[in-house]
Parts: sequence; C-alpha cells; structure tokens
Amino acid sequence: MLYKKFVAFLLAVVVPLILLSCENKTLKFADVDSARLLNAAATPAEWLSYGGTYDEQRHSALDQINISNVSQLGVAWTYDLATARGVESTPLVVDGVMYVTSAWSIVYALDAKTGQELWVYDPGVDKAVGAKACCDVVNRGVAVWKGMIYVGVIDGRLEALDAETGTLIWSKVTVDQSKPYTITGAPRVVKGNVLIGNGGAELGVRGYLSAYAADNGDLVWRFYTVPNPNKQPDGAVSDDALREVGNLTWGDEGAWTTDGGGGTVWDSIVYDNVNDNIIFGVGNGSPWNRDIRDTGKGDNLFLSSIVAVDATTGIYKWHFQTTPGDNWDYTATQTIILADLPLGEDGAARRVAMQAPKNGFFYVLDATSGDFISGNAFVPQNWAEGLDENGRPIEKPEARYSATPYMQNPGALGAHNWQPMAFNPDLGLAYIPAQEIPDFYAKDENFGERLQNWNTGTNLVAGLPINLDLATAMALRATLKGRLIAWDPSTQTPRWTVEHSNAWNGGVLSTAGGIVFQGRLEGEFAAYNAATGEKLWSRDVKSGAASGPGTYAIDGEQYITITTGWGSAYALAGGSAYDQPVPPIVGKVVTFKLNGKADIPDPQLVLPPRNPKTAQFGDNALIETGFNLYHYNCRVCHGPLAISSGVLPDLRWSETTADAVAWQTIVLGGALAGNGMVAFDNVLSEDDAEAIRAYVVKQAHEGAALEAEAAALMATDAAAM
Ligand code: CA
Repeated sequence: MLYKKFVAFLLAVVVPLILLSCENKTLKFADVDSARLLNAAATPAEWLSYGGTYDEQRHSALDQINISNVSQLGVAWTYDLATARGVESTPLVVDGVMYVTSAWSIVYALDAKTGQELWVYDPGVDKAVGAKACCDVVNRGVAVWKGMIYVGVIDGRLEALDAETGTLIWSKVTVDQSKPYTITGAPRVVKGNVLIGNGGAELGVRGYLSAYAADNGDLVWRFYTVPNPNKQPDGAVSDDALREVGNLTWGDEGAWTTDGGGGTVWDSIVYDNVNDNIIFGVGNGSPWNRDIRDTGKGDNLFLSSIVAVDATTGIYKWHFQTTPGDNWDYTATQTIILADLPLGEDGAARRVAMQAPKNGFFYVLDATSGDFISGNAFVPQNWAEGLDENGRPIEKPEARYSATPYMQNPGALGAHNWQPMAFNPDLGLAYIPAQEIPDFYAKDENFGERLQNWNTGTNLVAGLPINLDLATAMALRATLKGRLIAWDPSTQTPRWTVEHSNAWNGGVLSTAGGIVFQGRLEGEFAAYNAATGEKLWSRDVKSGAASGPGTYAIDGEQYITITTGWGSAYALAGGSAYDQPVPPIVGKVVTFKLNGKADIPDPQLVLPPRNPKTAQFGDNALIETGFNLYHYNCRVCHGPLAISSGVLPDLRWSETTADAVAWQTIVLGGALAGNGMVAFDNVLSEDDAEAIRAYVVKQAHEGAALEAEAAALMATDAAAM
C-alpha cells in the first residue's frame, strides 16, 4: 500500500517536476556563453552576434537556399517596427528567438519562425536627444550573454535586459550626458565583458571604448582614443599608449583642446580569439579640419585608425592609421573582418584584419602585429596619389583644402559607411557596399564653437547653389554612384561589380549557398551569384533596405532576414536630396524562406502635398542670409537646399512656413521639442528665423517648379520611346 502511494507520488509530483525542469531548460532564453560564441561559425542555425561570428565575416555555412533555388524565395513573415526613422539593425537569432532593435534604441524579441512578438523594451529616450544625433536616431543591434540582452541607448546608456521577459536588469550611463555623445552601435560580449563605444565627433566629443562586466555593469576598463586636452593621464588603461604614442602626434593648441578631438568608436569591434585581442575602428577628428583642430598639424593618433588591445585588460597592442591627420571625416570605424588569407610563405595561411574605410582604400593588415600587408583604392578617389610601402597615403596637396572649395571623392559620407561588408572564405572575396558621394570641402573662415550643432571647421555651404535649376540638379545627381564590389583582398583587385542606380546601398550577407544578399535604399532586396555577380532573385521590400541581412535555420528550414526603414546620415544630411526617389518610410523586419507565401503590407502614410504654402518674400540679401543660416543650423536634419529625403519633415511643404509667428514658436520656442526639434533661441534671433523662413519658402517655389519641369521632361521622353 505504502509502495503504491510512493509510486503514485512519483508519478503525480516528481516526474512532472522533472519534466517541467527539462522543459524550462530547453526554454532558457539567450543561453549563450564563450564556448557558443567561439563556435558560432559551426552552428549557422543561430546568428549570435552583430557580425554573425567573432570574425564578423557575415558569411553563413547554411546552404539550403542556394543558387539553384533562390528564385523560389518568398516572404515567410513581416513584423512592423512602427517607426518612420532610420533602421540599421542586424537581428540576432538564438534558439528560435530573434532579438532586434529599431529607432530610439527600442528592442524587440520575436518568435523567429513566425514573427510573433514576445516582448518589446522601450528605454524611454527623451526625444530632444535626437538633436545630438549626427546621423539619425538609429541603432544597429544587441548582444546576448547568459540570459541577458545588451543594448546601447542613443542617449549614452548601456542596458542589460532579461532575455525572456525584456525586463531591465541593469543600466549604466557610459558618457557625460551634458556633451553631444550618442550610441548607435551594437555592443559585443567578449570574455564576460560588454564592449561599447559612442558617437558625436561631428558635434565635438572625445572618443573611447569601454568594457563593462556583463553580469552587473561595473566598468572594467576604458580606452581613450585621443589624449585628454592637457595630455595628462586619465587613470585609464589607455594612459601608457597615449603617453608613448598618442600624445606625441598632437600639438598643444587648437580646437581639439576644447571640443574633445573626436575619435569615436561608433561601429566596428571584433574579437581576434587567436591573438586574444579586441580590434576596433576609430572615427574622425573633431573638428574635421585639422588646421583648426590642431595647430601642431600632427597625425593625431588614434584618429581614423584600427587599434588592437588585449581582450582581457584593454592594454594597447598595436594600431594602424588609415588617414593620418584626418581632415575629411574619414572614419576607420567601418566593418573589420578577420580571416585567413593565403599570403604567407608558399601560400600558407596568414591571419589578417581587413577594412574598407571611408577614405576609399581597402586595407589588409597582419592581425597579429598590425603590420600593413597591402592596400588599394576600391573606388575612384582624388585625395591621394596612392599608398607608400607602409600603407601611408601619399596626399595630394590640394586635398588639404583652403577657403576655396575642393571637390573631393570620397566625401564625408565615405566610399563605404556603416553598411556591413561581408567575406566569403571559400571564394576568398570581400563584398563591399561601395559608394561615390563627393563633397566640396572648404575651410570655415568664421569657425567658432556652435552650440547643439555640427563643429567641423568646414564651410557647410561650399559648392551648394543658392538657386537650383534642373541642369544643375541633374549634374549633381550624375556625381553620385553606388555599387556592390566583389573584392579579392589577396590581389587587391575587383573580381566583379554591380552598378546600382542609387549611391547609398545596403549591407551584405554571404552564404555557403553561393549567394550574396544585398538591399538598396529604393527597396530592392536582391540575391547575386557570389562568384559572378549575376542577379538571381530580387524582391521589392517597400522601404529602404540598407541594414546588414542575416540568416538562420529552425526545424530544418533556412530563413533570410533584413530590417527595413529609411534614415541615417545620407537621408538627413547627405546626398539623398539629389538621388533617386525613396519609397514611403516604414520600418519592418522582413523574413524570407523558400516558397514563403506571405505579403509585405503596403505602407499607410499620408504625405503633405508638395506645393508652396505661401507667397515668396524677402530680397536677395535676406534669402542669402537664410541660405547660410539654414545650412549651418538646419541642413544636417532637414537636408541640403531644404530638400528632405522624407525622414524628417520637408520644410518646404510645411503649413508653418505661411505663418511667421508659428514658425518662431517652433524654431525659437521649441514647441516641437517633444519630437526632437529643440529650441534654437540660444543660437538664432527672430530676424535669423525669418531669414531661414524666407529661404525655405523660396526653395518651395523653386522646388515645385523643378518637379513640374522634371515630370514634363519624363513625359516627353516616354512619348518619344
Ligand atoms: Ca563622422
């Protein structure tokens, strides 16, 4: 009897408990440790970190989707990210759960098989922070570690969330929030530390990389990339490297001593487990213009450099500077890829770090020593004659611009920006989302620190026409080019190239199915034969497709995924005003599989009619004042020539332009600060605001006429065909 009771007890209580605990075990969220991260290339069903693996090749061993069947790719599911701002996130996928971010650093956990929402975490950012963001309020993704999700928040916080529930576990402020710092990059976790940098070098900050303990958020070490203004120690791990290397390359005077010098670590951070180093990319100087930044005119280390530090301690190991004495916003923050190339003796494998930074040269470095192996221009450029035997650019003297504008390629948006590059180790090819977007560089003769504004030391109206006609608009358009380049790093030559109709194109994914996937800003997401560049498949995703795509597998089925949306530097401050039209702006996660049958919903957007809302006013002098003030105060968000790409309001079509008082309530009074349009009464007067309104209204009339003229021209062309 007792025995029977014991068995009944076992069956009723103990067995279910055991089963429950087993089930709980299989349900543990983000159960990722060092062993799993180190083994990521061999477990391609998951996508465990921003670049896929520590080497960040963005190459997956999955091959179910391949060149013979990719034409059958269809939509598996979509998820609405509910934002009209920029989306740059690469989703992580761990044990069937997708973790993805959107604008304003909002984190989503989704069922990766169905797209069903599991939880949403909104860090509740004060929207006024948007005014500090040089390049939109974007976020490129999260990191995972032992049941937690890590996100860098645009206002400078680093936060840890419970992977199962999205509940906040710890939050640390990683920057001086009184300064114009932002975070857009994805954290990485290495050996139990969360690594995070920051941005803000357009406005004026001092860059660094920090390591925080993943379990409790304690600061472990911090590496400053430029000296502090008096060249004294910070009590940080970078002290020795700055004393022995960095300080010697900076003078004692110049704007860097007050605005921080730049050198932000805003994107690429990789872990070289073979050498136990963390290798990271460092951004541009602040201000851009070296004449103004540093009267000593030195190389200004570690600006525009690739830097390696010990993975545990953060102690300096080596550096390679791509652009000594940066003068052009030539960041070296772009994708760093680690790989073995047959460059050793008799073709033996040599471990290398590769980068295609903004300056237009592709670099192959020895990952162990940082030694320069080779480099070559991957786009047409006119700032250097080439590289010397140490990889140092041989500058053209005219590139060190004066007050006279110099039209330079690459421009400040770079020959390659944040859009991730990929590398196929089987074919030995890197896939670069390359672009030609020239800039007119000229010295700002009236330079002075501008509150809540860009401080580049360059003339922000250089080369811009005060009056735009169709021929000029078309000539500007013709200078913009985008392409996908399959680059052989061993020979430093292109294998194949696909020309795009837009300059700003998308991040790249490479797969063992012999495919490279890449999106474009006008919404085409395409698959190319990795060996030849032949287009095999494409789909209109109905929004900008610039993010790095990813892939994963569940229940034996391979998925391809990409976040869509439209925003970032190009959309706000850059050349999008002259480029091909962009689709309506709605952010989504779009996930594909073979024979997927789902639809991509059409965006529901009401756009204001594109016509002037009031009569022109003001004489030429007022318009010219408005032209200058607009470009120094408004252009980096609302677009050059007051032509917006649509992310932020196109002021030309705003009803507010018809009402001087309402205009001032917003521009000076901050009536829309809750949307991120902060008050400018600390830098602009009522007369200034009125001059800007006069210029914007003039642009509305000119723009409407130009659009009518262009439409008529297209109709004529169509009739002639
Ligand atoms: Ca920059």
